[in-house]
Amino acid sequence: MTNTFTIPNPKTGPAPFPIPTDLWIGGQWVESASKKRVDVFDPSTGKKLTDVADCDASDAIAAVDAADKAAAAWAATTPRFRAEILRKCYEKIVENIEWLAYLISLENGKALPDARAEVLYAAEFYRWYAEECCHVLGEIALAPASGARILVQYQPMGIALLITPWNYPAAMATRKIAPALAAGCTVVLKPATETPLTAFAVAQIMHDCGVPAGVVNVVTTGKASPLSKAVLHDPRVRKISFTGSTPVGRALLHEAADQVISCAMELGGNAPFIVCKDANLNDALDGAMLAKMRNSGEACTAANRFYVHKDIYQPFTDGIVERMSKIKLGEATDPESTLGPMVNEKSVAKIAELVDDAIAKGAKLLLGGQRLNRPGYYYPPTVLQDVPDNADMIKEEIFGPVVSLQSFTDEAEAIRKANDTEYGLAAYVYTQDLKRGMQICEKLEAGMLGLNRGLMSDPAAPFGGVKQSGLGREGSHHGLIEFCEIKYVSTNW
Ligand code: NAP
Repeated sequence: MTNTFTIPNPKTGPAPFPIPTDLWIGGQWVESASKKRVDVFDPSTGKKLTDVADCDASDAIAAVDAADKAAAAWAATTPRFRAEILRKCYEKIVENIEWLAYLISLENGKALPDARAEVLYAAEFYRWYAEECCHVLGEIALAPASGARILVQYQPMGIALLITPWNYPAAMATRKIAPALAAGCTVVLKPATETPLTAFAVAQIMHDCGVPAGVVNVVTTGKASPLSKAVLHDPRVRKISFTGSTPVGRALLHEAADQVISCAMELGGNAPFIVCKDANLNDALDGAMLAKMRNSGEACTAANRFYVHKDIYQPFTDGIVERMSKIKLGEATDPESTLGPMVNEKSVAKIAELVDDAIAKGAKLLLGGQRLNRPGYYYPPTVLQDVPDNADMIKEEIFGPVVSLQSFTDEAEAIRKANDTEYGLAAYVYTQDLKRGMQICEKLEAGMLGLNRGLMSDPAAPFGGVKQSGLGREGSHHGLIEFCEIKYVSTNW
């Protein structure tokens, strides 16, 4: 008998099936060997929503067994066969957008408009890799010295461990599953403890779309470290694709070293947002709101530090305060809300600490700045002006609805400050002079640049960072190649 969760009062229509809350291994929902459970909470109320299986290392190895059993047959399917299944997954997810969005809002706390946007973004990875899957090209070349033929082909890497964070419960999973399956790999997914229900729903949908048993396995646990250790020490596992914080990524890189496992790491960010004096003010404000407030500010690409030229500093500040004041904070599933709670107590406490620290060091508070006195994990839209360089929020990810503003006079100084961080995921530049914009983009140390755009995430583009923001890329054709080995045959005829 499978444990399930029924979405309470879904104002957006019921799910076509109760959400399973056990482990998805080898095409079956199974309880963990210990029968232990781990609680899942509703950030809007702070109350328990449900519980899910709490697996240990032996369950995780059972998932690797299932992935191994399915591996050869899946790798032998034709690209077209895999593409058709991925395409069905895309269609099914889009068809089910309303209840999926509701489920995401419920367990993650993001407001429904953000949750709907996530469902579409998540689905797009299936559509993109359904197409990309059939377009993996090899190479043929002539060896310059010997005249031998060099034939290069891509082969599936093997079993992949996928570990995802809570901030995009659907999209971070599909951004890994779709390219892995397109490449011909089988996977074991471990979603974040805060948001396992969306991953289970996605697994069920994929099964219903024809993904064979064992190709996708999902395990949940309250103790991630022993699980990843066991899986990464299993010689059948050849890939880890991780999205999450830099400290955890670093620990997993150490763990993966023993079996020399290929690592893709999508880690933390500290994105600068530079507004030059010739920027179009309205465009810059629209972009700033998108870059800061999308997903409640809980995005790795979120603008964390605003550097605004002194000539437009005050109008930009006034515009931000005006826009931030209009945000409607409320329960995530309330259709009126445009901002929900943060994901958990730890998150909201950290934001409060960063804001208090900045104010103590001299920042001017223009809006918000106080936790809400109500159950759940609410932090209001907040704006801080003249945040000093020694404030902790200049060095660390805020991961919440807080705008931190500084002015600059010299562009070179803004670029130096923007690069003065161990992170290098995303950066934003606003200017009407394309040449100036491209020159600044070339100098910024980031994997992704938004030039007069507040949003750069796109399944067709390579997503990833430099410095301590990660290794490898997701999305685009690069994301598929991450799951492939390059094999070369030297021959003559
Ligand atoms: P996190 O604490 O690093 O957790 C991410 C995942 O890793 C979760 O599934 C977590 O499981 C698991 N985990 C934690 N400790 C582990 C360990 N010792 N061994 C193996 N797995 C472990 O990050 P988060 O708080 O969920 O997410 C926020 C972070 O993700 C931010 O830094 C953000 O910038 C980053 N992020 C990056 C990208 C990107 O593409 N670059 C995208 C989104 C988010 P449990 O939940 O069970 O602890």
